[in-house]
Amino acid sequence: MRVAIVTVGDEILAGDTVNTNAAWLCEQLTARGVSVERITTVPDVVADIARVVNEYRAEYDAVVVTGGLGPTHDDVTMEAVAAAVGRDVEPHEEAERWLREEGGYAAGDLVDGTTELPARARMLPNDEGVAPGAVVEGIYVLPGVPDEMKAMFERVAEEFSGERTHSTVVDVDEPESELIDRLGELRERFEVTVGSYPGESVRIKLTSTDADEVEDAAAWLEARVELTADEE
Ligand code: ATP
Ligand code: MG
Repeated sequence: MRVAIVTVGDEILAGDTVNTNAAWLCEQLTARGVSVERITTVPDVVADIARVVNEYRAEYDAVVVTGGLGPTHDDVTMEAVAAAVGRDVEPHEEAERWLREEGGYAAGDLVDGTTELPARARMLPNDEGVAPGAVVEGIYVLPGVPDEMKAMFERVAEEFSGERTHSTVVDVDEPESELIDRLGELRERFEVTVGSYPGESVRIKLTSTDADEVEDAAAWLEARVELTADEE
């Protein structure tokens, strides 16, 4: 399953909020065997959100959108997602019922627009907050507040799956440029994807759907490179 993530919010683009939601979702989805292929951050602008969501829903099996729920003036995500799928937003009966029965809110307590979702969407209750999320045509709309987003994702996590992959990291104490030939040979010999992440040392990440293949590739590489002290 191939998935794209769209995070919404001017505050992310301004650098005021670090996009931890995207990192958390990537970790969860990857662990489930899903291939996450895009993370895009867009401002709180209906046309920008709608355009990206529309493009990604055509390309990927699912799109996960976070941020910009709720009824305040800068929360336009539901309207944008509705526009992307050519539907109106309308008060969602089940969302009203859930907030009344489980949340303890009378309809009059809620700010206007709180329960408005794209027409005929599936409502996702917000266990940690108020504004409900929604699923419509493979688009999962989750809150921006990290605790709310996580709790809501748990409700739908089972809907994301794929072939599990196995990974291991070999920490190499050599300049990345000197590893080119050995990494080339590694790729030829083994059915693994090879990620190379330079920092103080070079982290070589080997990934495959076959755990034995990863182990064999790691052993082959470890025998041919200078390992960092704590790997020896
Ligand atoms: P609410 O219903 O409370 O308004 P919301 O779904 O509208 O929530 P936002 O208004 O977009 O969410 O963001 C609320 C807060 O959540 C932000 O102030 C920010 O601190 C945090 N937040 C939003 N997006 C992210 C993100 N991608 N990563 C981490 N934190 C985020
Ligand atoms: Mg908000």
